[in-house]
Amino acid sequence: RAETVGFIGLGNMGGPMALNLARKGGYEVIAFDINKDSLKKYAKDGLAVCEDVSVLARKANKFVTMLPNSSHVSSVLEGENGLFQKSAKNSLFIDSSTISYHSAIKIYENAKKVSQRYVDAPVSGGVGAATAGTLTFMVGAESKELFQECKNLLQHMGKNIANCEKPGAGSIAKICNNMALGIEMIAVAEAISLGKKLGIDPKVLSSIMNTASGRCWSSEVYNPCPGVLENVPASKGYEGGFACELMLKDLGLAADAAKQAAADVPLGNHAKDIYQKLVELGLNRKDFAIIYDVLLNNKLK
Ligand code: NAD
Repeated sequence: RAETVGFIGLGNMGGPMALNLARKGGYEVIAFDINKDSLKKYAKDGLAVCEDVSVLARKANKFVTMLPNSSHVSSVLEGENGLFQKSAKNSLFIDSSTISYHSAIKIYENAKKVSQRYVDAPVSGGVGAATAGTLTFMVGAESKELFQECKNLLQHMGKNIANCEKPGAGSIAKICNNMALGIEMIAVAEAISLGKKLGIDPKVLSSIMNTASGRCWSSEVYNPCPGVLENVPASKGYEGGFACELMLKDLGLAADAAKQAAADVPLGNHAKDIYQKLVELGLNRKDFAIIYDVLLNNKLK
């Protein structure tokens, strides 16, 4: 009989990830989200869904969480009504949400106290990679054996499963990566909007950058200018993708971590202020590449 995996959080990322796990992994996946519309949408796609998270606790002993931030992860897993209490002992909880490494370590320690196993395994790659099953996972497992157990499951949703070798280290890798991404997206958006105003076609400029030294993920895979690439949020009204409010959250995590480590991150802090302004402009649920549109229309000031 197929092993049962409980999947919690069917948002922009979790939805396609859960579908891949069910279709390619040979697991029986049962999914839960507090948003009933998401449940309906993925049930239509053939995913088994439930409206009560305690059903998962009874049926599964492996779980994946893909939730906005640490307070959501903590409320689903910890506390009297959390899955740590309600599910069988020694269950495996893989959390792929981006949360602070302090929260990840705390949840890991709390899991241990109640004989559960918690691993931070955040992802990178965006909705495109979530859909294609080619995500990069950064796994903070305490042993090689546990890493392998996680990899056996995660490989159906990702292509690169990286061993970060200790609890919390997956979350450290993720916030450092996303600080670079947050800065890089603004840099690419500034360059292409400047080029457009100076009279060069963004498609031409982007293709030059992609064979020149300005090349990066934001120029090549996730270009912020509408029409340069198909199937990216920029070409779909900046819908879906990675919400500005989530990028702001990640840069907040990086800023907090930098303070604790006495690390100097001037551009990370500046990027955080810029995404804060996008949220204040009411663009919180729009994809973070919308910085291009805001710069092009001089709306940042
Ligand atoms: P999202 O906001 O689209 O989805 C989050 C989902 O969690 C929603 O469907 C929401 O209803 C659900 N949810 C919230 N509280 C819940 C609860 N208590 N129980 C069950 N479901 C609950 O977010 P997303 O873009 O899918 O991102 C999820 C996580 O992955 C975030 O931490 C984000 O930073 C990270 N991430 C996102 C991307 C991306 O490109 N979108 C890439 C890498 C990592």
